[in-house]
Amino acid sequence: MSTDLVATLASTERSGAAAPVALPMLVDGGWAAAADGAVFDSYEPRTGRVWATLPRSSAADVDRAVTAARRALNGEWSRISAADRARILIRIAGVVDSHREELAVIESRDNGKPLREVRAEIDAIVRYFEYFAGVCQTVLGETHPQAASAFTYTRREPVGVVGAIVPWNSPLLMLAWKLSPALAGGNTIVLKPAEETSVSTIAFAHLVADVGLPDGVFNVVTGIGEQAGAALVAHPRVDKIAFTGSTEVGRQIAATAAADLKLVTFELGGKSPTIVFADADLDAAVHRTAYGIFSAAGQTCQAASRILVQDRVHDEFLDRFAALARRIRVGDPLAEGTQMGAQISAQHRDKIADYVESGRKDGATLVCGGTPPTDPALADGYYFTPTILDDVDNSMRMMREEIFGPVTGVMTFTDEADALAKANDTEYGLAGSVWTRDVTRAHRVAAGIEAGLIWINTTRTINHLVPFGGYKQSGYGREGGLQVMEHYTRVKSVWVDMHDELPNWYADS
Ligand code: NAP
Ligand code: MG
Repeated sequence: MSTDLVATLASTERSGAAAPVALPMLVDGGWAAAADGAVFDSYEPRTGRVWATLPRSSAADVDRAVTAARRALNGEWSRISAADRARILIRIAGVVDSHREELAVIESRDNGKPLREVRAEIDAIVRYFEYFAGVCQTVLGETHPQAASAFTYTRREPVGVVGAIVPWNSPLLMLAWKLSPALAGGNTIVLKPAEETSVSTIAFAHLVADVGLPDGVFNVVTGIGEQAGAALVAHPRVDKIAFTGSTEVGRQIAATAAADLKLVTFELGGKSPTIVFADADLDAAVHRTAYGIFSAAGQTCQAASRILVQDRVHDEFLDRFAALARRIRVGDPLAEGTQMGAQISAQHRDKIADYVESGRKDGATLVCGGTPPTDPALADGYYFTPTILDDVDNSMRMMREEIFGPVTGVMTFTDEADALAKANDTEYGLAGSVWTRDVTRAHRVAAGIEAGLIWINTTRTINHLVPFGGYKQSGYGREGGLQVMEHYTRVKSVWVDMHDELPNWYADS
C-alpha cells in the first residue's frame, strides 16, 4: 500500500480532474481517521484545486496519539540501544534518498515550491537523518572529580513525549529538523503538520512504515492549529513542545505551556537585514540577495526582507537587483524551468498584496512586481511576482511586520554605525547578512547584528551542522548541530556513596 500511495500522490497527471485522495493519519503504528470522522481539504497551490482530504483531529485523537507515544516511550523503544536507534535513522535517510524524486514532486504539489528547491530540501533531509544517526551514540554523560568517598555521574535521558508543530513553508524539512534529534535522543513524537501542507508528511509516514520504529514512536495527527495543535500543547502527558511558526502563535503556546511548565523551543518569525557596503562584490550581493528574498517565493523565516545599501552604491545595486527580479521565471512549480513557484494560499497572496499597498501608502516607491503575474495559465494558482520597494524606512508597517512573501524593501545608510542602528531597529532577530570586502568590518558587523545567525558575503545558507535559531521575538532554543540535543535530552545526576562506612551525621546524639 505504502509505495502505491506515494506513487499516486507523485503522479502529476492526477492534478487534472481526478478526485482528491483520501489520506489517513498515523497513530500508534496504524492508519487512522479522526474519531468523529471529520476531514478537511488540502489545496494544491499551483492549481488551486483540492487534491487530498485528511483527518481533522480533535482532542480525542490527540489524546490517543499522546497515549501511544507515552506507552512507546516506556516500552520497547526504551530498550533499543543507541546503536540500533542509529540504524533506524540511517534507514529513514535511505528511504527518503531512494524516493527523493517522488517526495520532491509531492512536496512541490503540496507547498508550491519549484522542483529545484524541493530537491535541495530533500538532499538536506537525508543529511539530517544521517547526521543524527551519528549523534545517537555521542549523547554522553559525565563524571566529576570527587574525593574517593563519592562517585557521581550524569545520564542524558530522553525528554519524553515531544509534541512537534510545524508550518507550511518547508513541511518535510521542518519535520526532519524535529524528528531526527527527537529519535536520536530516544524520545517519542506526536507531529502536527500545517493544515495547508499535511500531504507530504503522510507520504513520508508511509515511507518510514517499515524502518523498524516500534508502534507509537512516531505519530502524525493532522488537523487545524486551534484544535489539534492547541490540544497537543495543552495535553498534560506531553513533555515538550517544539514549535516552528509565527511569533503570534508562539506567544499563545508559551502561555499555555506555562500552565504545567512544559519545555518549549521556538523557531519563529524574522525580518532579517541585509547590509551591503560600497566595497562589496555587487554582482554576488545582487544575485544572492535575490535568492535570499525570492527563493521559496519569499515564504521563509530567513527572508532578506530589509535591504540596507550604502548610499553611494544604492542606485547601482537597485538597478541590477530590479533587473534580476524582473527576469525571475514565476510559474508552475512542477515545470523544470520555473524559478519561483506559488504562494501557499489565495488568502496569503492577498495579504502580501495588502502589504505592498500599505508600503506605497506609507511613502515607499514600487520598483517592480506588486501584483500577481499576468500569464492566464497561472490565473488559478496562487502566484505573485518578485516585488521590490525603494525609499522605505523602519517605521513602515511593511518593514516592521513579517510579510512572508516575495516582497523586500530597500533603504540607504551612511556608515557602519548607521547600518547597525537601522539593522537592529526591529523586534525580530533571526538572521542577518553583511556584504563587504573589509574582513575586520565584516566580523565587527557580524558581532553587532542582534540575531542568531549571520552570513558574511552570502545569505540564506544553513545545514545540519550549524545551530539555527533566533534572538528577540524570533524565538529561543536552537535546531541543528550538536546543540539541539540540549533540547531533546535532560540531565539526571546520580550520586554514589563510596565510603567504607557512611559517616553518621547523628553519631553525637
Ligand atoms: P502559524 O500560523 O504560527 O502556524 C504554524 C503551526 O502552528 C501550524 O501547524 C498551525 O496549524 C499551528 N497552530 C496554529 N495555531 C495554533 C494554536 N493555537 N496552537 C497550536 N498550534 C497552532 O504559522 P504559519 O503561518 O503556518 O507559518 C509561517 C510562520 O512560520 C512565519 O511567521 C515564519 O516566520 C515562521 N517560520 C519560522 C521558522 C524558523 O525556523 N524560525 C521556519 C519556518 C517558518 P494550522 O496550519 O492548522 O494553522
Ligand atoms: Mg496557520
